[in-house]
Amino acid sequence: MKKPYSVLIVGGGTAGWMAANLMAHRWRDSEVAITLLESDTIGTIGVGEGSTPYLKGFFKSLGIAESEWMPACNATYKCGIRFPRWSTVPGYESYYHPFFSPLDREIGQVFFRNTGQRRGGLDVPANPTDFFHAPYLSSNARAPHPEKPLPFELDYGYHFDAGLLGRFLRDTAKAAGVQHVIDTVSAVERNAERIDAVVTEKHGRVAADLFVDCSGFRALLLSGAPGYRFRDFSSTLFNNAAVTVQMERDQSQPLLSETISEGLSSGWMWRIPLQNRTGCGYVYSDHFVAANDAEAELRKTLRLPESARVNHLKMKVGRVEQHWHGNCLGVGLSQGFIEPLEATALMLVQFTIEHFLDAFRFSEPEAAGEQKRTGFNERINQLFDGVLDYVAGHYRLNTREDTAYWRTAREDAIISDRLQALLDCWDNNGDVDGLLEQAGAELVYSRASWYSLLAGMGRFPVSLRPADAAVQQEWEDVRRFCTGNQARFRQHQAQLDMLTRTDHEPA
Ligand code: AMP
Repeated sequence: MKKPYSVLIVGGGTAGWMAANLMAHRWRDSEVAITLLESDTIGTIGVGEGSTPYLKGFFKSLGIAESEWMPACNATYKCGIRFPRWSTVPGYESYYHPFFSPLDREIGQVFFRNTGQRRGGLDVPANPTDFFHAPYLSSNARAPHPEKPLPFELDYGYHFDAGLLGRFLRDTAKAAGVQHVIDTVSAVERNAERIDAVVTEKHGRVAADLFVDCSGFRALLLSGAPGYRFRDFSSTLFNNAAVTVQMERDQSQPLLSETISEGLSSGWMWRIPLQNRTGCGYVYSDHFVAANDAEAELRKTLRLPESARVNHLKMKVGRVEQHWHGNCLGVGLSQGFIEPLEATALMLVQFTIEHFLDAFRFSEPEAAGEQKRTGFNERINQLFDGVLDYVAGHYRLNTREDTAYWRTAREDAIISDRLQALLDCWDNNGDVDGLLEQAGAELVYSRASWYSLLAGMGRFPVSLRPADAAVQQEWEDVRRFCTGNQARFRQHQAQLDMLTRTDHEPA
């Protein structure tokens, strides 16, 4: 009998179990045996607790309803990210990066036009917080689900408990036939460009046709590949550590549907509201603040009781050159990491697996496979570099003068020529739309996201000419429209409660 094609996934964090699920689903009608092997002595990092709207597609493709996974993972909805204390420009001390909805189509045009006018020196309102529905929904503790169905869906992301999500995905993957083995890899057997087997402590030698490295920053399989190269992003993104804490949810406060990413003295702090707790973490650079001082600042900012337990982490920002090398695919921290500012980690994981599944064939001549791998690696690198530009833009655009960290992040961080060209174009009132269109998918983020970042930080001329009263009136109309619409959406908590009632499948 012909042996099935064998796949060995090493590592059982979110990346490993996402890969296991997507592979089991895509190859459900093929002769494939998938095993996930993880160590019970080496833990997961598990701090990626927010997502972009891309994650919606992950559950959709697996046929998993929100009512199945969200209650199991204490998950909440996310309409976007609020950024207080990145900019000091009056009127722009806080801004919102929204996920967009078709409801924003017309008011979004007012935003785009206003930003153009303000760049040209006219004093018109251009903070994205005022022009999209997402900030109105989330600050009023609404879910992105209307009471009465709309003819379209809103774009939104999620917050979740990463540990619980890992467990949930483990169970669905096992139900789909994935074998789960607990063991620790002690060596990797290579044969030129390919991996033949891993050597484990309890099960000895484990061979496979395809290996998926989800072993985290260690990159256990990928890092030993011939010609392995890691592109370090630390001259662009300085942050290399985080201190995190879980706080009990304050039930007297409304449950917001947004992440807050607030600037602190030498980095920024996330606040992620889950159903039972709020996860917080200070992402900082230890060149500017020592770990114990960062912890003290976190404790003070959050008024933590002395008994609160915090967790210190190190981060390594950058990416590999080859995410798919020979018969090994890197997924998750093993392939690279961009700091969590825009919650892109799972998007990179999902994109990598989905693109791999589209490109991969079980039997293919080596040369054709090589060409495919090259194209695949270029595409994944493009995605990483596009996200890097967007995240780097936040630091370059900050206007804080209060600490060396913020000044250095603005003045000394190395940014790509592409990002510099975009900033120059914006500053010189050039054709930003044309430039974004020309760059196409390379800039990864949409026009609305770039405009939200650039305008949200208050990147405009300092001296402005007064605008006429009609502009003010239009702004107020937009605010009235959004305020009126938010009341048509369900309360966040009520929507979550509805998901737990198994007899009801929400719209
Ligand atoms: P994370 O750091 O969250 O990306 O998760 C890393 C995963 O890789 C965890 O499930 C670890 O148990 C697993 N892992 C790391 N090193 C080894 C190893 N030597 N053998 C088996 N599993 C490993």
